[in-house]
Amino acid sequence: MILPKYDLHTHTTASDGVLSPLALYQLAAEKGVEVLAITDHDTVEGIKDLQKYLGLESVESGPRLIAGAEFTCLFEKQVLHVVGLGLNVDHVELKQHLSGLEELRLDRARRIAAKLEKKKMPNVFELVLEKAAGAQIGRPHFAKVLCDLKIVSTEADAFKKYLGAGKIGNVSVAWPSLEKVLEVITSSGGVSVLAHPTKYNLTMSKLRKVIAAFSELGGNAIELGYPGINREQQNILAFEADKHNLSVSAGSDFHTPLNRWTVVGAHPPIPDNLPHILNHRRIANTVINRGVL
Ligand code: AMP
Ligand code: MN
Ligand code: MN
Ligand code: MN
Repeated sequence: MILPKYDLHTHTTASDGVLSPLALYQLAAEKGVEVLAITDHDTVEGIKDLQKYLGLESVESGPRLIAGAEFTCLFEKQVLHVVGLGLNVDHVELKQHLSGLEELRLDRARRIAAKLEKKKMPNVFELVLEKAAGAQIGRPHFAKVLCDLKIVSTEADAFKKYLGAGKIGNVSVAWPSLEKVLEVITSSGGVSVLAHPTKYNLTMSKLRKVIAAFSELGGNAIELGYPGINREQQNILAFEADKHNLSVSAGSDFHTPLNRWTVVGAHPPIPDNLPHILNHRRIANTVINRGVL
């Protein structure tokens, strides 16, 4: 079966991306993407606005849209990202879950700002609110403010010095549990995907444990095609997906056109000849079969 050109993991200005949902959609259309999931961190506001807009306009051509979100959650103190695809954005439980996350993120932003303000960086909270402009607030908004203030020269530097693991701005948050997030995704009609499994800096044994728990708790798929993953890692993940009867997904994790490593619609392919991955495990099929598109 020939799959459409798809991208199942992207961000917009509704979270920490730099393109508006419409600009992302137009760029995806230019790149020939046929199926586009918008998966902002802990919000569906961007995809909702876009669906409304496209419903009103007579758009000639462009990708089919999947309403998604990338949910932040905890499994045994480890922060994980789970992409939900094909969400019913009006589902009450989903709405409640997302408004809880908005509060958590706002509270975290206040705590991060207080820490930075103690280091003689005044007004960080106001600047971050202005930078986020109504988006779900994330650490990248802090990184951008620190760049504007010339305290650091790049966003990566801001993470290295202030926002990343072990730094003052990486305050702990009581994110919802993995179990809860999987329950919310499922009850709002979505398919759940463990995002970028090799990007959590876990040991192999811990990663295997995470994937096993994800499957036992009702998770549906793991990402196998995303920037930075190599063929050896794909083989390992394919083996785990097969073992736990999980589908596989792929996406660019697009945030900005300025990063040449992430291009909308471009992600390492899920190789055709991976020993453990049969076509029926490809999430694009699963998603089509479940009528999400
Ligand atoms: P948050 O969900 O607010 O904790 O922010 C996490 C986001 O920060 C990720 O989705 C990335 O977009 C971004 N990020 C994480 N680490 C780095 C880094 N080292 N450099 C630049 N951006 C990063
Ligand atoms: Mn991000
Ligand atoms: Mn992520
Ligand atoms: Mn992402």
